[in-house]
Amino acid sequence: MAAEPPSSASPGHFALERGAAVAPRAGLLSTGHGVVRTPAFMPVGTQGTVKGLSPADLRAAGTQILLSNTYHLMLRPGAELIRSFGGLHHFMAWDGPILTDSGGYQILSLKERVKITEEGVAFRSHLDGRPELLTPERAMEIQADLGVDIAVTLDHAILLPASPEEVRDAGERTIRWTERSLGHAKTLDTPTGLPQLHFAIVQGGGDPALRAEMAARTAAMACDGFCLGGLSVGETKEETWILAAAATAALPADRPRYLMGMGTPIDLLDGIARGIDLFDCVLPTRNARNGMAFTHEGPINIRNAAHARDPRPLDAECGCEACAEFSRAYLRHLHVAGEILAHRMLTLHNVTFYQTLMAGARAAIERGAYDEYHRAVTHRYRERAAASGDSGPGGREPSGDNS
Ligand SMILES: [Zn+2]
Repeated sequence: MAAEPPSSASPGHFALERGAAVAPRAGLLSTGHGVVRTPAFMPVGTQGTVKGLSPADLRAAGTQILLSNTYHLMLRPGAELIRSFGGLHHFMAWDGPILTDSGGYQILSLKERVKITEEGVAFRSHLDGRPELLTPERAMEIQADLGVDIAVTLDHAILLPASPEEVRDAGERTIRWTERSLGHAKTLDTPTGLPQLHFAIVQGGGDPALRAEMAARTAAMACDGFCLGGLSVGETKEETWILAAAATAALPADRPRYLMGMGTPIDLLDGIARGIDLFDCVLPTRNARNGMAFTHEGPINIRNAAHARDPRPLDAECGCEACAEFSRAYLRHLHVAGEILAHRMLTLHNVTFYQTLMAGARAAIERGAYDEYHRAVTHRYRERAAASGDSGPGGREPSGDNS
């Protein structure tokens, strides 16, 4: 069946700077709060904050766009309150683009507190047990109240393993909910009056054919971009990329693709090689609070005794405040002593590292040398990570840092 190429809801919001190249791609994503140069990584600010970092810190780290969370903000402090402050940008004092995910995945993680019907997702708040109902329409209303630049449609996420019937059922419901979400979003306005882009989630479980079908059917709708959902939920990495490739092959080149909730630095580079434009992941921020720093030579764990007398910065090639000012020895001391500054500095460093990695990827795409960049960065990162951890002045740790 030959259909007209579907148009996005906001034509012209995404421009590929490398023509129609499928992968890797360098693009410009235009939003109400500025242009995002893709590929781009979104730090996770679940509660309207990237834990420990101010908006100025995020800017200094090279962050272009943030991710926040519909589910958490609807429960606390509430979308109405944030709207009364002129939207999330004003409320949190971040004037760059913001994307919110629709909450489907977070609600799913509540497990026994959830009931999914055609109407929507009924659940109990993890804060006070209050019953809540998130419908596709309500998810878009909340995100309009938040005034975010990119809102995501509600999907029916499932946990694997699931039967083929369950996966198909959830996929079909996601398609119906996407239609309802996009239809209702057109009737809403934001507190800033700025336009909002609407991204739709492509599901399909662990079956590449179903992934491709769901991608093609989603692409037939007037959404502004696509989210690849339900990946990296227990399948092998190889399977993840097969599923992602099945979906992206069925998506039009002229709208952005966002791989939800993944991953490591190497995952990002592998994803870019497969035509992914946007990423988010909690790893750089969550692992920072556990003492892990990502570096060009692989991850290190600042808790290791090897760092106790190490005068070097976390990463000699990093220009962040943590690397400019502090030794590994001092940061280790702070971490071991439970000092807040350790969390803040490692978070700042890790976000800077991710953004530097992405900027390097984009520059490599622009000069037509992405394969070399991908290979060289991966080799160095893995070689060091595999070398059983640290070999700094303090000696070596047997357990290594490559967690
Ligand atoms: Zn740094």
